Amino acid sequence: MKRVRIELKGVVQGVGFRPFVYRLAKDCQLGGFVKNDGKGVYIEVEGERVEEFLKRLNLEKPPLARILFQQVEFLHPTGYKEFFIEESEESKAKEVLILPDIATCEDCLRELYDPKDRRYRYPFINCTNCGPRFSIVEKLPYDRPNTTMKSFTMCIYCEKEYKNPEDRRFHAQPIACPYCGPKLILHPTGEEGEEALSKVIRALKEGKIVAVKGIGGFHLMCNALDDDVVQELRKRKRRQEKPFAVMFKDLEQIQEYAHLTDLEKALLISPERPIVLVRSKGGLAKSVSPGLKRIGAFLPYSPLHHLILNSLDFPLVATSGNLSEEPIVKDNQDAIQKLGPLSDFILLHNREIKRRCDDSVVKVVGGFPLPIRRSRGMVPLPIILPFKLNRKVLAVGGMLKNTFAIAFDDVVILSQHIGDVENLQTLEIFEESVRDFMELYSFKPDIIVHDLHPRYETTRWAMSQDFPKVGVQHHYAHVLSCMAENGIRERVLGISWDGTGYGTDGTLWGGEFLSCDYQNFERVFYFKPFRLLGGEKAVKEPARVALSLLLDLYGMDALELNLPPVNFFNENEKTILYKAYSSHINAPYSSSVGRLIDAVASILGLRQRVSYEGQAAMILEDLYSYYVKDTYPFEVKGSTVDWTQILEGVIKDRNNPEIAVSRFINTLANVCLYVAENVDIERVCLSGGVMQNDPLVSKIKEYLSGFKVYTHQKVPSNDGGISLGQAVYGGLLAKA
Ligand code: ZN
Ligand code: ZN
Ligand code: FE
Repeated sequence: MKRVRIELKGVVQGVGFRPFVYRLAKDCQLGGFVKNDGKGVYIEVEGERVEEFLKRLNLEKPPLARILFQQVEFLHPTGYKEFFIEESEESKAKEVLILPDIATCEDCLRELYDPKDRRYRYPFINCTNCGPRFSIVEKLPYDRPNTTMKSFTMCIYCEKEYKNPEDRRFHAQPIACPYCGPKLILHPTGEEGEEALSKVIRALKEGKIVAVKGIGGFHLMCNALDDDVVQELRKRKRRQEKPFAVMFKDLEQIQEYAHLTDLEKALLISPERPIVLVRSKGGLAKSVSPGLKRIGAFLPYSPLHHLILNSLDFPLVATSGNLSEEPIVKDNQDAIQKLGPLSDFILLHNREIKRRCDDSVVKVVGGFPLPIRRSRGMVPLPIILPFKLNRKVLAVGGMLKNTFAIAFDDVVILSQHIGDVENLQTLEIFEESVRDFMELYSFKPDIIVHDLHPRYETTRWAMSQDFPKVGVQHHYAHVLSCMAENGIRERVLGISWDGTGYGTDGTLWGGEFLSCDYQNFERVFYFKPFRLLGGEKAVKEPARVALSLLLDLYGMDALELNLPPVNFFNENEKTILYKAYSSHINAPYSSSVGRLIDAVASILGLRQRVSYEGQAAMILEDLYSYYVKDTYPFEVKGSTVDWTQILEGVIKDRNNPEIAVSRFINTLANVCLYVAENVDIERVCLSGGVMQNDPLVSKIKEYLSGFKVYTHQKVPSNDGGISLGQAVYGGLLAKA
């Protein structure tokens, strides 16, 4: 049984939408209700066939209905038997008016391919129901002169549509046509329009790399079936193994290369058009997603994408246009300078992108959609809280996968994905984006909230600001964000597992069980801390973590073991690492489950070094087998969970990685059960980057079936979501 809450906005009132929902719910044998509110249509359905309902809701909606965006949230069943239409109620929540960028709608697509339409094959076709919003607005109110469309003067035809309340383009701010709107231009050759487009198509067919200006920035595109060009792209972009997203022309084409569930299909065709991580069938070039069984698939979301993909019989790698670790390029001049060396052609246009916005990424975890990156198509939709905040907050987020947030009343608005704020360049982008939000929303915070890590650039930035400020512990912020998005008011047990975060005792945490409310937390259990040999280096080299654990287990004898992490180092390196271990030099303590997972990957010989965050965990995830039901023993001493026996088990099973991985993950779930039973709090929140692991989350939910388990569905469980937790903490602080 599943229950979902669906909020729809757009043209959904006065078009027979509620009777349609009623019939559909009956048809799918679901209970619940539908009602109109001031903002759109609100639906709750419950039953077995909610996924079918969601899919058909989009496919079979009344012809006049236009869904601008929809928010779907999975909830615990409450036992609805009947389905009914509820009478309207006046909306109370105050609307925050900026919409995200919305994928090209069906009507515009029809016109795009209609030779008789005046916008036939026009790459910037849009209407009231679709097109750019967040990426073109310069200031509020959202009106044409306040967007980057201000430099284009409407022709008389467009103006007529724009002013006609009967027209689909009535007050569509980015309205444009071939006579008056933006144009394509190819760099460096200078072709325009159709000529530019056909040259790009030819180049892609010939195995070239083309940079294409999209909605929130540039993509680098190339044939996803051609391993030579994909490898060439990796070389130019300096991106070793981190998977590339692939854009397919339609669902049918994706299904040639990947297995899709109904839920994944619904996510792929949703107006947000996120990248969805799906299980590969094979067939794509090996270098697209090296060593992994998942691929990041998505569908065209701008008319230009549609025109390109529809002229090709192969899918395209579509990765953000940048050098590895740098922010996505959005301006033409920047593109020529930075993407010129990476690509054979650059397809530019003259509609300016006001703010960068990377593609969003979603993955189905534990049966529910989990945002991995919440950005284009989702931002700046607010998270609405079930309570009011005491003050206005700017929450600066963490360091990796940064987002920041502004919060007031019962509203939290998270920024788009900023990236890893590790160098001067990303710090500048961070500052610029904060300033942008302040101006856009005329926002001035009462307080700034930051992470406790003294060396996060975002913490340093917060410290330099002339506002009151407060720090929040990293893993507590993770849990708070899960509580906030689920609207929980009661105390929870937060299971907060990730790579690392700064603990209140100055060590690195990451395997935490926290008893939390909105004011305080208590660290009730945690994994036994171990040493990260070489500090930061241990993050890149799981072998260092594994060796450290083996030294804990076997002392110096560990150095003689015939195990992959030991064999990975030469004698000299082993001596140095042993010294670091025994004299505690550059070997900080950590309780991180992320690092434990890395160590297991190392001992199983899967990965001694990683080239991107989470790589080892993703490889492990692929090996998990639901047929394996047993676990390893573990011991709890006081409030520490000792992993000694778990590790011994993994070492014993090392010749059968599938068994070892499955038992290991089952054991982690069993540890959660042990703690939950001991702590005895009804509600359990799962957060932190480790909770992006599908089998792990599924198993924890299974083991904790006697508890109310909450996961993330609106913001990422990784560090991209902690600004929400920070914002809520700061906003609820008692007034000084
Ligand atoms: Zn449209
Ligand atoms: Zn026009
Ligand atoms: Fe974290």
